[in-house]
Amino acid sequence: MKLGLIGEKLGHSQSPAIHTKLFQLLGIQGSYDLIEMNRRDVPNELIRLKREGYVGLNVTIPYKIEVMPFLADIAHEAQVIGAVNTIYMTAEGDFGYNTDYSGFGRSLDHAGIAVQDKECVVLGTGGAARAIVKCLYDKGARTITIASRNPQEKSEFAAFAKTLHGRMVSYEELAAQKDGDVLVNCTPVGMYPNIDASPVSKTIAAMYPAVVDLIYNPKTTRILQYAQQQGAKTLNGMYMLVAQAIGSEEIWQKQHIDNAVIEEIAKEMEKQYE
Ligand code: NAP
Repeated sequence: MKLGLIGEKLGHSQSPAIHTKLFQLLGIQGSYDLIEMNRRDVPNELIRLKREGYVGLNVTIPYKIEVMPFLADIAHEAQVIGAVNTIYMTAEGDFGYNTDYSGFGRSLDHAGIAVQDKECVVLGTGGAARAIVKCLYDKGARTITIASRNPQEKSEFAAFAKTLHGRMVSYEELAAQKDGDVLVNCTPVGMYPNIDASPVSKTIAAMYPAVVDLIYNPKTTRILQYAQQQGAKTLNGMYMLVAQAIGSEEIWQKQHIDNAVIEEIAKEMEKQYE
């Protein structure tokens, strides 16, 4: 089965390693290629790849929105999020999905971090935050508060968040908020090489009994260190990264893939950041 990842610059992608490990574990005959393209070529490239026999594509920055008009249908959650990271190419048409959404949900379940009826806080207003807010909403979060450096300038995100009963705040307003159950970092702050940075202070991080960081390099970011020092439950982004890849494979291979496979690949992938 011909599979691949489309994007603008893919040199550092972890995806081929994850998919290749999965092929080995499940005995699947498959290839997973990195396919870089310019924005103006996206429509024609989709046609070319399908003609060349590609069945599944992952889509990354900056084309997660770009590909949407060229798809026959898009899964409901991907429509709400406004981004597609998985395309399934079939004779009946090409279909879009968002497995960042499902991968995040699966990683919360794996870590035993419950969000139903909980007060959840999301840091950042990028593409990842949209998938996370939708997932928290669907999992029954009681409140979803989204912190931005410039909430007044993020009207599009605010409109999206409002449909999911989310509320935008500044970091100053977040600091004044006394309660919270789950904090999710959806900013790049703390990612290698800027590993000493944290999107919030130690005092704020310490207020949450569960802290999730979508970053996986380093394994334990500064914000997760702060949380661990308080005995909070923590989770980094590696399980989500692998789970979104496995979610795509489940669509392409038309089979359920056990969480044990995600765990095994995530453990293997994490070794490079130890
Ligand atoms: P992004 O669009 O580059 O940034 C997300 C948001 O973070 C921005 O919209 C911004 O919100 C905030 N931000 C950016 N720079 C900041 C800074 N210096 N200080 C404070 N806030 C800042 O990124 P993304 O694509 O949404 O991804 C976010 C993070 O999640 C990245 O680290 C990415 O690697 C990770 N990620 C992980 C997975 C996974 O599977 N584990 C999947 C997707 C993404 P405001 O302007 O509103 O403050």
